[in-house]
Amino acid sequence: MSELPELGTPFVCVEADAAELLTARRTPLVVCANEPPWSAVRPTLRGADVLAEIEAWDMDVVRLSEMVDRLVAATPPAQLDAATIVGIGGGTAMDTAKYVAWRTGRPLVQVPSITSVDAGFTDAIGVRDEGGVRYIGTVIPEVVVLDLPLIRSAPARLNRAGVGDVLSCHTGLFDWRLASEHGRGHPWHDGPAALGATLLDELEAAADEIGAVSEDGIRFLAGAYRRIGAACAWAGHSRFEEGSEHFWAYAYEHATGSHPVHGEIIAFAVCALAHVQGNDPARVRRIVERSKVRAHPVDLGVTAAAFRSALLGLRDYARDNDLDVSVVDLVDVTPGQAEDAWSFVTSLPRVAG
Ligand SMILES: [Zn+2]
Repeated sequence: MSELPELGTPFVCVEADAAELLTARRTPLVVCANEPPWSAVRPTLRGADVLAEIEAWDMDVVRLSEMVDRLVAATPPAQLDAATIVGIGGGTAMDTAKYVAWRTGRPLVQVPSITSVDAGFTDAIGVRDEGGVRYIGTVIPEVVVLDLPLIRSAPARLNRAGVGDVLSCHTGLFDWRLASEHGRGHPWHDGPAALGATLLDELEAAADEIGAVSEDGIRFLAGAYRRIGAACAWAGHSRFEEGSEHFWAYAYEHATGSHPVHGEIIAFAVCALAHVQGNDPARVRRIVERSKVRAHPVDLGVTAAAFRSALLGLRDYARDNDLDVSVVDLVDVTPGQAEDAWSFVTSLPRVAG
């Protein structure tokens, strides 16, 4: 672990059998889950009182709001007032559970079943609203349950995808430094910046374990998310781990309507934007190779035309959506640079799905 002072208070996280822990709570459960793993987890909760099961798939704010209205209307108040909100699954399950906990004011237990995203370890509730992502509030889980056998039973690629939201410190830190040097946006702060740099060093050291999806690999990713989540809440922004690579992914998803695995598209975008930044793309490539995260555009279904269009239009997209200032605002990205970045990402290793 790093010798950095803790930035903020990381969420309580325990290694435990999720079903045992939830059953032992003896409270009604409102479960927000993805499928998989819900149908495999459901039978293990036989001893628990599952009040409602919400299939998480859509973070559209209007549909979320209607869903909670229906839950409240259908549930006796005495039961809902005693309930625990549980998220079981990937990013949309974590985010849906956060939303439901926020709306109902009930305690939240998060059970991530994959390490592909950091949503279980962040307090911000992100929803989709008219094509964009909007943050509407914060909620802190009572506990995040790290159920290692559950996580390791998921497809390896979904756990390896967890690399993306740590690797994004590489391009995020560059953008933050550049923007702050131009007096734009959140001022530079050595604390979160040092955390980002340390996490990148630790990620590189843990890359083989992540590639093997070992218990230590999963522990590293969960611990990294925990520290990132705490530091983001402490700083009030996520500049050290989110920059032009995330913005490119948002623009790409908006333009194409596709929803790739978050950590994979981010790993791809870190490679591409590190190249655009002239920011040690060889290091990013090393980490991608050793951790075996899928990042090759052909594996992700990203075409040259869609890549180029999202990159060359990124300044406009970022301004339209009021995103943080990044390299694309301060440097004119040329078609030639886009071609060079494309050549770089098409030289990444292919990984079978
Ligand atoms: Zn992310």
